[in-house]
Amino acid sequence: MSPRERSLWHATAESAPALLPLHGMQETEVAIVGAGYTGLATAIALAERGVAVTVLEATEPGAGASGANGGQVIPGLRHLAGDLVAAYGETLGRRLHAYGAGDSDRLFDLVARYGIACDATRSGYVQVADTPVALAEARQRHDAWAALGAPVRWLDAEEARELTGAGGYLGGWMDARGGTVQPLSLARGLARAALRSGVRVHAPARVNAIRPEGRDWRLLTATGSVRARRVLLATNAMTGDLWPGLAACSMAVWSFQTATAPLAEETRVLPGRQAVSDTRRVLRYWRRDAAGRLVVGGKGTIRAPRGPRSFGVPERMRARLYPDLPDVPPEFWWGGRVCVSLDRLPRLFALAEGVFAVMQDNGKGVAWCTGNGAPLADLLTGADPRDLPLPPVTPLRPIPLHPLRSVYAAAGSLWLRARDALDRARPAA
Ligand SMILES: Cc1cc2nc3c(=O)[nH]c(=O)nc-3n(C[C@H](O)[C@H](O)[C@H](O)COP(=O)(O)OP(=O)(O)OC[C@H]3O[C@@H](n4cnc5c(N)ncnc54)[C@H](O)[C@@H]3O)c2cc1C
Repeated sequence: MSPRERSLWHATAESAPALLPLHGMQETEVAIVGAGYTGLATAIALAERGVAVTVLEATEPGAGASGANGGQVIPGLRHLAGDLVAAYGETLGRRLHAYGAGDSDRLFDLVARYGIACDATRSGYVQVADTPVALAEARQRHDAWAALGAPVRWLDAEEARELTGAGGYLGGWMDARGGTVQPLSLARGLARAALRSGVRVHAPARVNAIRPEGRDWRLLTATGSVRARRVLLATNAMTGDLWPGLAACSMAVWSFQTATAPLAEETRVLPGRQAVSDTRRVLRYWRRDAAGRLVVGGKGTIRAPRGPRSFGVPERMRARLYPDLPDVPPEFWWGGRVCVSLDRLPRLFALAEGVFAVMQDNGKGVAWCTGNGAPLADLLTGADPRDLPLPPVTPLRPIPLHPLRSVYAAAGSLWLRARDALDRARPAA
């Protein structure tokens, strides 16, 4: 977190586990780079199978998206089953979708199994729609889950207003599998669970290079190195130039959040404490925290936040959603970088023999990344990836003209906002 931010999650998280940099020349079976949800959940799953694992983290567990996000537990992958089938074919598309359906169960189970203190609340996830087009899309999503027997409920406009306290929505749906967590406490708790399971977690331990050594790999940090048979890069939007070409396979897009002071007990703002987002292409998401603060998130600027004045988007959103709340500056403001692929599908890359990189963020990874340590552990212990509920393993697929990514992001955001505005202007069918 930069000194220009004031993160609610940093101010209220469980304490960070005491960790040390890597010293000397070490050996392990699997080395994981990055201690976010992906790296830590995979490390725990490997340790549960008796595999020796070392996690190397540049800063501290949760330093990336895992410590900055909205803490919304949103069940399932972003894509509907039909989209996954179109992208991956019938067998893998259906397998991924079915596996995704259980991601919030896996998250809450892991939290319970390791007794992770992270304010985990299974209060439900709500999606609301403010245009007829968006409502039809929400209905499709609701019906798809209902057909699979998921605990979802359709909401008319009145029910949506009662649940959220926000006006202007035509309806939506609620999914009882979802809820909220304190995201940084979850990351720190996963790090503690990994340590308890026998994983060696080192931080600060930025990996500066990965070199072949016989049939193995050596990962070098400033203070030591570790030799590993297999390697997983779980560095998400913070990949940098660690592996040539990897960072060019996705874009890092800022999302900003602000949080109010705790609201009065009798407020009508999310009395049931669900996690909420709307169906806009330029997403708006909000929730309450354990102390009752309202946390609102939305599009960030192209560059890192430069102080409280960068947070106009979430602040204007809060004012529009809840005009009755006092118009006072937020108590907290912070941003995070979302790792986005052009088609918003997750990626799994084979970089070299025994070296994989996974990118599965796309702004929706609290349940998914925390819940899918097991298949990644299977992959790293030699399972055939074609048998696993994972995206296909491919070589690197850089985004064309990646150096122009800021232009893409700006143009993409304008395009999506224009389409949202068009939807709002369109009369009901
Ligand atoms: C602002 C924001 C809001 C979001 N809100 C939600 C939400 O409400 N619900 C939801 O489901 N999803 C949300 N997401 C997405 C979710 O946070 C991510 O999908 C998830 O945290 C990704 O976890 P990860 O472990 O893959 O990556 P990260 O948490 O980003 O972890 C990557 C780690 O790699 C480390 N690293 C990088 N390079 C090196 C190196 N060379 N050596 C060592 N370590 C290195 C970094 O320090 C970092 O700790 C949000 C994301 C953001 C940014």
